[in-house]
Amino acid sequence: MRPGAWPAAPEALAVPVVDNHTHLDFPAGDGPLDVAAHLAAAAAVGVDRLVQIGCELDSAAWTAEQVDLHPQLLGGVALHPNEAPLHAAGTHESGVGYDEAFSRIAELARHPRIRVVGETGLDYFRTGDEGREAQVRSFRDHIALAKELDLVLQIHDRDAHADVLDVLERDGAPARTVFHCFSGDAGMARLCGERGYYLSFAGPVTFKNGHALRAALAVTDLDRVLVETDAPFLTPHPHRGAPNAPYLIPLTLRVIADVLGVSEERACEAVSETSNDLYGPW
Ligand SMILES: [Zn+2]
Repeated sequence: MRPGAWPAAPEALAVPVVDNHTHLDFPAGDGPLDVAAHLAAAAAVGVDRLVQIGCELDSAAWTAEQVDLHPQLLGGVALHPNEAPLHAAGTHESGVGYDEAFSRIAELARHPRIRVVGETGLDYFRTGDEGREAQVRSFRDHIALAKELDLVLQIHDRDAHADVLDVLERDGAPARTVFHCFSGDAGMARLCGERGYYLSFAGPVTFKNGHALRAALAVTDLDRVLVETDAPFLTPHPHRGAPNAPYLIPLTLRVIADVLGVSEERACEAVSETSNDLYGPW
């Protein structure tokens, strides 16, 4: 297959589910799909609704427009943990400083179809020590915003498990807190369960070397589990290396059902119900 070619569509799910986290604005694949094409391809396999995440200024503004155009979409907005330090240091290509950038996000978050503050959190993989203080400050600002507006918090945690958990504990997590693309082990999954957090699993749970993630999933209650693509990244097995899109959710959902020892239908129903509980109807 050509490197940018879109994988074949998997068999449709019997019960519809929500893609809990996707980026439809990132160009991907040969002949990038427009939003309507993404939504149609997703609906054809039973992915009837999506949460579109815009985590830098342009993308957040775009997200707030798209949720008005497409009833299948809800949105999330934030300054990504790798963006916030650039705004804070005055080195962001937009020339916008941190305070102004955050206040634009806070404004967009008031849109009735923006139901998520995220993705926000800590990323020690792509941002070095010099950006930590700005990341923590931005994370805390986003936590406060989610609580103020009673929105769901979606967390990005890359190589920063202990500090993310610590900030949440110290500031008090919003009532509905989701770890997007959960990447912790079984011990962390148990701790998240005790604290009432939700875990959203993406393509890596399907990877051949994803044993630790499957072990984490195995100790998580079904009603705390969500599924996402994080498209166009993290394409599930057996299509690693190809571009990712919401229509590939069934591949990840089936692995989740398998690991939890429930039927595909039961897993889909639970994910849909949890999505409705978290985000409200749309
Ligand atoms: Zn993402």
